[in-house]
Amino acid sequence: MTTERTAAERLLVERYGSPLYIYDLARVRAALEDLRAALPQPSRIYYSLKANPHPGLVAELRRGGARAEVTSRGELAAALEAGHPAAELMYSGPGKVRAELDEAVAAGMRTFSAESFGDLERIGAAAAAQGVTADCVLRINAAGAPGQAGLRMTGGPSQFGFDLDGLTEQRARLLVQGTRIVGMHFFPLTNARDEAGLLAELAQSVRTAAQLREELGIPLHLLDLGGGFSAPYATPGERPVYRGLRTALSTVLDEHLPGWRDGEPVVAFESGRYLVGDSGRLVVTVTDVKHSRGSDYAVLDSGINHLGGLSGLGRLLPLSAQPLVPPVLPDQGAGAAETDGKTDGETDGEPGTVTLAGPLCTPADILARAAELPGVAAGDLLVFPNVGAYGLSASLLGFLGHPAPAEVLVDGGETVSATRLALRRQHIQPAPVHRTEEFTAMTEITAEAGADTAATPPWDEEYEALLHEVLPRLRAKGPLTSQTSLKAAGLDSLAMVEVLVRVESAYGIAIPDSELVAATFATPASLWRVVSALREQAVGPA
Ligand SMILES: *Cc1c(COP(=O)(O)O)cnc(C)c1O
Repeated sequence: MTTERTAAERLLVERYGSPLYIYDLARVRAALEDLRAALPQPSRIYYSLKANPHPGLVAELRRGGARAEVTSRGELAAALEAGHPAAELMYSGPGKVRAELDEAVAAGMRTFSAESFGDLERIGAAAAAQGVTADCVLRINAAGAPGQAGLRMTGGPSQFGFDLDGLTEQRARLLVQGTRIVGMHFFPLTNARDEAGLLAELAQSVRTAAQLREELGIPLHLLDLGGGFSAPYATPGERPVYRGLRTALSTVLDEHLPGWRDGEPVVAFESGRYLVGDSGRLVVTVTDVKHSRGSDYAVLDSGINHLGGLSGLGRLLPLSAQPLVPPVLPDQGAGAAETDGKTDGETDGEPGTVTLAGPLCTPADILARAAELPGVAAGDLLVFPNVGAYGLSASLLGFLGHPAPAEVLVDGGETVSATRLALRRQHIQPAPVHRTEEFTAMTEITAEAGADTAATPPWDEEYEALLHEVLPRLRAKGPLTSQTSLKAAGLDSLAMVEVLVRVESAYGIAIPDSELVAATFATPASLWRVVSALREQAVGPA
């Protein structure tokens, strides 16, 4: 902690307020360089936006040559905003829905990680609907190398990836229209602290990929080995430097996939926390200091709504059991005030340790226990280091409605940007999306509908008025007959939705999807037959 940095951070808090996230782009560049130096070359690095989707960070990583891995419409938008070409992005994650896949394909994305047969089919359907082919890597859920520390993502039963067992027998299901299998994706664990363990895991993935290529007879143009690169989170410390990984893993690749040096396969890695974790710091203010039944509390203006939300939910780090910090007091040592109102014999913790609580009205809002902050007083600024990854966007921003902290991007000593995320409620309109799609297809056919001669019960005035309202051009066609073409009167897909909604509400009926076919909307008569039949059903037999 240089005093220079302390002064700069104080100044930023004066300008942008507390709490305040500060991200340093110089550190992002350094992390990307370090990671590249640790990996076999040639290889590709994907930045996982889930660690921090801030467009400034994403753009910096792109300038450094990293690609982006996205898992949602929000992350896709952030990657595009940061200047990533859509064709270079990778879309991954379980439970991808058709609407987001449609959007990704329309934006120009072509590379997807498939998590299951169903996922593969939905990717294929989205691609085929737009007349393109999606390149898919199969995410594999393989038994990992034994005994690794870190948060395991696959290896047991999991929502992630295809089980290795039984995949060969089911390989016919991998032939899906609209898709082309181009390789495999592994991401067995994250935050692997020790290098030997990480190497064992990556080497295991390489062997599995080589073996699967043989057994399944599928191509292996792209091998995404995932990552698991570690970084300290909200505690002081440095990123590990993986000194032996490059050479050792290159040897494994030479042995099992000798074409990799010429890009067959292209070897890729993914990282979130390693790339941005140490770029971020959160400065907060102590708003209250109190003593309660033997313990000292410092209440902060920031809690699990801004940091450690994941941990607060008991996921990554059990914060309530494990001290997160200690954070660093920018002016620690310089005239620390005396310990707040504590009398001898009243404390059961270490003298000078405090629990750091946030401002939320829940006992879960604890950022640290037993933080060593002797003499902490209201008004003090505290810093949580290493919170560039899984900070703000991984927190409970909407809970209790406090504003988000400002996020300031600096580059060395220069301020690059200052922004504040806002959650706001928007009014939305109901959109009968799937019906609109069907109607679009139907409009085409309606044009060819022939003369309507089927017997039709007489319609009422309300029905006629309704058609005239939605289709003003009908009037020009003279009196409404059973032969009048609704299409010729301007019935496009939007007007069809309008007619449908109005008719349903006027007659208290629901037209079933099976009737939403071109023939129903061909003429006033064809639609009225459906309406009157449904009305009779609704009333019931006399
Ligand atoms: C979360 C995730 C990452 C990033 O993990 P880090 O530990 O932040 O590097 C990469 N790939 C996939 C598939 C993930 O789910």
